[in-house]
Amino acid sequence: MSNVLNLVFNPDPRLREVSKELPEAEIIALADLADSMAKTMVANEGIGLAAPQIGRTIRLIVVNTADGPIALANPVIIKESLLSDWGEEGCLSIPKVFGDVKRKKAIRCQFTDITGKSRTIDARGLLARVIQHEIDHLNGILFIDKAKNIHEI
Ligand code: ZN
Repeated sequence: MSNVLNLVFNPDPRLREVSKELPEAEIIALADLADSMAKTMVANEGIGLAAPQIGRTIRLIVVNTADGPIALANPVIIKESLLSDWGEEGCLSIPKVFGDVKRKKAIRCQFTDITGKSRTIDARGLLARVIQHEIDHLNGILFIDKAKNIHEI
């Protein structure tokens, strides 16, 4: 059963850990957790969520796409555009704080889906930004580390 989970907030040390790679055989067993993460993201009006944000330091993220939320295990950016863009970001783990972050405009991300299948996704614009933000979480990096014009609303 999937549930809305409690969020972890900055400066919780789990947000600063490098998350663990998931053995391929274990990914399928995380389907409920991925569903719960998607529910948690939607309930909090987020567009992405990384496992450390619910206190699990494993390489699993969910992102909202035009087709609904998808889960990406062990996501790796394998190709990226030369061009970057500045854009405003926030984070469910750092409520009410916003700032401008420079991200690659377009990326190709390789990942394992929740059925254990290796896939790639091509993303540009906001989705590319969200995936880069969430992968940063898996490396213990928060957007405030990179942002300019940080402000509180
Ligand atoms: Zn975040």
